[in-house]
Amino acid sequence: MTAPLAVATTAPLKAPLSLTETPSLVGLSRPEIGERLAGIGIEPKQIRMRTAQIWNWIYARGVTDFNDMLNVSKDLRATLAANFTLKRPEIVTEQISQDGTRKWLLRFPARGAGRPVEIETVYIPEIGRGTLCVSSQVGCTLTCSFCHTGTQKMVRNLTAEEIVGQILVARDRLGDFPDKTTPVGAAVPSEGRLVSNIVMMGMGEPLYNFDNVKQALLIASDGEGLSLSKRRITLSTSGVVPMIPRTGEEIGSMLAISLHAVRDDLRDMLVPLNKKYPIAELLDACRNYPGLSNARRITFEYVMLKDVNDTAADARELVRLLRGIPAKINLIPFNPWPGVNYQCSDWETIEAFSDIVNRAGYASPIRTPRGRDILAACGQLKSESERMRVRERLALEAMVTNDED
Ligand code: SF4
Repeated sequence: MTAPLAVATTAPLKAPLSLTETPSLVGLSRPEIGERLAGIGIEPKQIRMRTAQIWNWIYARGVTDFNDMLNVSKDLRATLAANFTLKRPEIVTEQISQDGTRKWLLRFPARGAGRPVEIETVYIPEIGRGTLCVSSQVGCTLTCSFCHTGTQKMVRNLTAEEIVGQILVARDRLGDFPDKTTPVGAAVPSEGRLVSNIVMMGMGEPLYNFDNVKQALLIASDGEGLSLSKRRITLSTSGVVPMIPRTGEEIGSMLAISLHAVRDDLRDMLVPLNKKYPIAELLDACRNYPGLSNARRITFEYVMLKDVNDTAADARELVRLLRGIPAKINLIPFNPWPGVNYQCSDWETIEAFSDIVNRAGYASPIRTPRGRDILAACGQLKSESERMRVRERLALEAMVTNDED
């Protein structure tokens, strides 16, 4: 395994901003912003124009203070500030790996869950792009046996504001808004947007929080704001089959599937949701994914577990199962944690598996682990809610690629 170990930089941030009970305009759709503006007395004929202005300031310019909205009258700015907030989530810690990977521990208010919650968001810079791994839930209701989060209880869904907030925090910290400066020495792509790709692959099953994830991703891909191409947004699911068609129709993102096994008896153990939606049903939903084509392939994630799912027969069966689906396969060397019963496959085994898949015409990159130094330290963040979970590590290591690759 190629694990470039490096020293982490941990930067506790001073004076964090906290979300308050003041309602935020972040994470709302345009009609919802319009409703809020009507609620503070903005004239109906002005609502559309004011909504467009505010949208542009929040998402294209990255402002966090209504006073910076220079084309809005002073009086209206004061009224907006008296009624709403644009505050970001609180950044508890920021860790920077020597390879440039960044991880933020973010804190959100309780919102009825009894106490504030914390989640992690990870940025992975490469030469041609910067990928942000975003969380959708605090904890998870599913119990995948290779995943540490699966052993911890679900706390709550994240709101659309909190999902979008992860993107805004990353762009703030990287200086990825106009007139903002990238921190000296930060590892970022050599050209283009610093956050160019989003993967919904952090904590949680995004299709169990569909409405909030949908709203957040539609905001992320809105051409007058964050403007991320839907080809650069990937939603990863463990296989919530009934929601897969809606993901294509209503969100239009790229799709990734946590497959990890080619037989139902084994996948029942690794990804217990398989008992409800077995492999054949899952792959049928993939075959019919709206917009699927050779230019918009589905990514299948396959974690390499020694003597569990890594034989040549498994590789051949994988190829057979995926026949007819425009696909690529991310082979992920397993990264064990204390107490887990699985081990990572031997490197030769992973390469042999990859060769079989490649010869069948599928791209099957074996991902180089990134940010191992800060991942190793993640348990020490002492998050009140959850520790870094394997799935997020897998996300880092897989670094789902979009089809321009
Ligand atoms: S892999 Fe994903 S779906 Fe499975 S338990 Fe972990 S977070 Fe939940």
